[in-house]
Amino acid sequence: MNTPLSEQRYDVAIIGAGVAGSYCAERLHSAGLNVCVIDKSRGTGGRASSKRLAANSSDQSVSQSCELGAPFFHLEDQQLASSIHRWLAACVIAPWPAADQHDQIAYTGTPTMSALTRHMIKGCDFYGNEKISIIESDHQGWRLLNESYQCRLWAKQLIITAPAAQSAVLLSGSDAPETWLLDAHRATLACSPQWASVVTLTDTCNTMMSPLELDCLKSLPSVIELDNEPIARIICDGDKPQRTPLQSRWVLQADQDWSQQHIDAEAQWVSEQLLSCFIVWLNKRQDYVFAAKDFSLLPAHRWRLGRHHAFLSADMALTADSNNRSKMSLDYRWSQSLGVAVAADWLGEGSVYAAMKSADNLVNAMLAST
Ligand SMILES: Cc1cc2nc3c(=O)[nH]c(=O)nc-3n(C[C@H](O)[C@H](O)[C@H](O)COP(=O)(O)OP(=O)(O)OC[C@H]3O[C@@H](n4cnc5c(N)ncnc54)[C@H](O)[C@@H]3O)c2cc1C
Repeated sequence: MNTPLSEQRYDVAIIGAGVAGSYCAERLHSAGLNVCVIDKSRGTGGRASSKRLAANSSDQSVSQSCELGAPFFHLEDQQLASSIHRWLAACVIAPWPAADQHDQIAYTGTPTMSALTRHMIKGCDFYGNEKISIIESDHQGWRLLNESYQCRLWAKQLIITAPAAQSAVLLSGSDAPETWLLDAHRATLACSPQWASVVTLTDTCNTMMSPLELDCLKSLPSVIELDNEPIARIICDGDKPQRTPLQSRWVLQADQDWSQQHIDAEAQWVSEQLLSCFIVWLNKRQDYVFAAKDFSLLPAHRWRLGRHHAFLSADMALTADSNNRSKMSLDYRWSQSLGVAVAADWLGEGSVYAAMKSADNLVNAMLAST
């Protein structure tokens, strides 16, 4: 029989330990609230998490991670500058100039992206491998239930930070305002899947590459945007700050339209397609002719709910006046009387920074009301 995760009654329960949920947790915990975070995955980070790769060196204690989701984020304005300074001081992020874009500084987690979300939730109780399927208000707080209808946690207030499609499941049938559910459905239609794969140069002793050719490989840019399907972006994972690459390794992010077309393909087939596109691209750039055998690859990761794009919310759709529309474009939802809120990237521009800003705006509103 499933027992509750905790007999504790929390001030705030947060569904989702991605960037938005972890950010809410950090701020609300600092404000003195008793906060817990619950996620269906084992660890934190969501779409900005790191995947552990098996150690492939003589030193088996060395394990390596790489990011198959967001590899970095940009400081898009100054709203979160003080949080950025705090995380820099805690050494859980570092600037990565190779990924700077226009006048926006890029940051990545150190030693991995997951370090940031782990740091943010460190004062709170975290429950991983726990999928919440139903949320129920008892008018004093919220009961979080699993798919067997067993209550796992109770909290006075609830914040949902799941992607739009998963938020819609939680919101449907709950006491939350109906327009939130409508918005989650609209945002789901503006969400694209994305495949991502990691390829590693196999033992260079077995290749015919000269040291010069190896140097040429190492001098490739760290972040490369491509127009050619199926690859949209190539990221040299080992070039990130504070990584100690034992091997040359690249993350290949597939184009979103291509990912949609091949959403039900086999993960191994997808990796092979991405690798052959990578090899064609590489071979155009230097003399050594690479072949598939020069690389090892893992089955690709499918992000079914990968990237959210802007959508027209229900309130905005009803407003003909474009001035009013921009005033109404709140990037969070909160009902103080019901004690429930939503914060996530899909209420903004679908980026790590948008997720953080949504969470920041929500927490500011919640704390201002107390
Ligand atoms: C391949 C890829 C590349 C990207 N590149 C970039 C980039 O370069 N720059 C950038 O800024 N952004 C990038 N993004 C987007 C970025 O990753 C997201 O915008 C951001 O991480 C979203 O954070 P979030 O907290 O809103 O949601 P998520 O990270 O999705 O977190 C939500 C969490 O909720 C959990 N959850 C969902 N449903 C339940 C449930 N029922 N019960 C319990 N837990 C649940 C999930 O497991 C997840 O951990 C990329 C995304 C992908 C997929």
